[in-house]
Amino acid sequence: MTQPAVSKPLPEPDEPSLPFFQGATDGRLMLMKCADCGAFRLPSRHHCDECLSPTFTWEQASGRGTVRTFGVMHQRYHPGFALPYNVTVVELEEGPRITTNLVGIDNADIRVGMPVTVEWERHEDVTLPKFRPA
Ligand SMILES: [Zn+2]
Repeated sequence: MTQPAVSKPLPEPDEPSLPFFQGATDGRLMLMKCADCGAFRLPSRHHCDECLSPTFTWEQASGRGTVRTFGVMHQRYHPGFALPYNVTVVELEEGPRITTNLVGIDNADIRVGMPVTVEWERHEDVTLPKFRPA
């Protein structure tokens, strides 16, 4: 796989997601947790999906999960993405699902239900959680 000449677009942290991205920079997968019912929120947002509470804490997740579903992209939608690449939904041990990419594995070997663990893709201004087989 050759690297494209154009950089891929990267997320820009906003106020609700800043602790998530700061944690990523420190190598910690941080999740917003409802202070009233204990449900985790991902992506970060002001109100709990379960009880609508606006209160929360930030908790470090284990970084472990399982592949819930995935797709392999063969169509280029942005010149910054080298083809083919996978888009994978990982269900974290804590419950939330995160859309990410699996690394360290051929796309043909990805399986639903396989255990994975977080690793970090560092860029100049942001660090992104990716996952590899556990
Ligand atoms: Zn709640």
